[in-house]
Amino acid sequence: MGKELILMGPPGAGKGTQAKRMVSALGVPQISTGDILRAAVKAQTPLGVKAKGFMDRGELVPDEVIIGVVEERLRAEDACGGFLLDGFPRTIAQAEALGDCLKRNGRSILRVVNLEVPDRDVVERIAGRRICKKCGAEYHVKFFPPKKAGVCDKCGGETYQRDDDREAVVQKRLSVYHAQTQPLLDYYKGRGLLRSVSGIGSLEEVGRRINEAIA
Ligand code: AMP
Repeated sequence: MGKELILMGPPGAGKGTQAKRMVSALGVPQISTGDILRAAVKAQTPLGVKAKGFMDRGELVPDEVIIGVVEERLRAEDACGGFLLDGFPRTIAQAEALGDCLKRNGRSILRVVNLEVPDRDVVERIAGRRICKKCGAEYHVKFFPPKKAGVCDKCGGETYQRDDDREAVVQKRLSVYHAQTQPLLDYYKGRGLLRSVSGIGSLEEVGRRINEAIA
């Protein structure tokens, strides 16, 4: 059986950070739809052009656009033995498409881990989030600042704030999360796949909880 895993949680819950920490030990690729879309926007590909407006407004990119992207990514050789999805699925339609796609290949989801973080923490976390322009390393101005403000510890690149991390957009992303993505928790709970863990605590603490949940 492969390691077909999903990391869920509200925006800013730490999905990307934890996923990046987990993949080498798991030996599966991290598949982050947010990262894929941001790269497409930057490169101004047809996907990026389609997605940009939705992302800037904090809305979801339409299901028919994102589902095709993920199906193609899952066909890549490195995803044969499993994957860690972060930021997908975000709607019931996406979850069903994912389930169908895996089933066609005799595969299924092994576990869904939900990182629980209250709304008030989400806003503080996202507002302080900074990312390195060069290597993508993530920082937080209060919880995890680089040694020199604005400069990446790892590569010396400049850190920046994502456009959609500004407060007005964060509120919109949160309301979209509650309306469209939270219902997925019941969807996976009903299938016996969901484990919820607290996303509050140090990177190591939260990482340990996630590892226990997928063990
Ligand atoms: P993230 O980095 O996961 O917070 O994603 C950033 C933005 O990309 C979201 O606010 C959406 O506009 C878009 N996006 C990422 N993943 C999805 C998805 N599975 N479905 C629809 N839109 C997505």
